[in-house]
Amino acid sequence: MKAVLMEARGGPEVLRWGEIEAPQPGALEVRVQVKAVALNHLDVWVRKGTASPKLPLPHILGCDVAGIVESVGPGVEGFQPGEAVVLNPGVSCGRCERCLSGADNLCPNYQIIGEHRWGGYAEYIVVPEVNLAPKPAHLSWEEAASIPLTFLTAWQMVVDRLRVQPGEDVLVMAAGSGVSVAAIQIAKLYGARVIATSSSPEKLSAARQLGADEVVNYNEPGWSQRVKELTQGKGADAVVDHTGAEFWPEVIKATAWGGRISLSGASSGSQATTPLAHIFYRQLSILGSTMASKSRLFPILRWVDQGKLKPVVGMVLPLEAAAEGHRRLENRQVFGKVVLRV
Ligand SMILES: [Zn+2]
Repeated sequence: MKAVLMEARGGPEVLRWGEIEAPQPGALEVRVQVKAVALNHLDVWVRKGTASPKLPLPHILGCDVAGIVESVGPGVEGFQPGEAVVLNPGVSCGRCERCLSGADNLCPNYQIIGEHRWGGYAEYIVVPEVNLAPKPAHLSWEEAASIPLTFLTAWQMVVDRLRVQPGEDVLVMAAGSGVSVAAIQIAKLYGARVIATSSSPEKLSAARQLGADEVVNYNEPGWSQRVKELTQGKGADAVVDHTGAEFWPEVIKATAWGGRISLSGASSGSQATTPLAHIFYRQLSILGSTMASKSRLFPILRWVDQGKLKPVVGMVLPLEAAAEGHRRLENRQVFGKVVLRV
């Protein structure tokens, strides 16, 4: 099959267009013909070697896939060749206490498609049958591929970790990122008032179109004061953040007394200084978050079917242009997902 092979760790140039033997589906596995694969920052971290530095090479990146079931392995009963699907990116043992209690993203053997196993920068991908979900019929392939990883991540942050309530003020950092595009919509679905931050007037305007009630430019010094003003001096009750060390001091200041911050990344660096007095005296909660239980894809897809959650595709490129896609993602030039068409 044709694929974009990661042949070394490094810059976008390590991604090479080539041929490799297509994987065969084993028992309870399905081979999917990839139609679209969305890029995530995780792809960049794996490419650079900051995530999974010991992965055998060549490797195939790509966690977010939409496609058509091409063939099924022994024992597969729920799907047949020809069905349109989206892939759930988390793979876990399915037997341990955490898997069986619905916390499969805390399974000791938890893997992400495209990180710990071959992903979707290819014509075909093999995944366990339990990782398939029907593709929402009204979406394009590119839109469908834009859903899983970012909406799952945002769902666990907003719903499971922050437990956002109607009427709360929710601050969503870096509104142009895939996770934040999803978090704005999910927080609105749960009845919150959303304050979104971004770095340019164009992205702030796009955040408003997604449903953000207020927008703040976080490139302006002291931007947390603006969040305070918008909340009558209180600050945000709940914060969705993955912006990292550069913005962390202001994120803490922008959070209300008793507020919660959910963190799912640290784009600008992970070595940050936390004023501990703010944590205990103002009674802040910091809630780490990575991915979500596979089960959360079901409510997400129901809301997508109803048109209440919408993937945002910022740019579509052919699969061969994966390296260019990585550059665009890293430069943060795009509002919404960068998607490769296969
Ligand atoms: Zn498990």
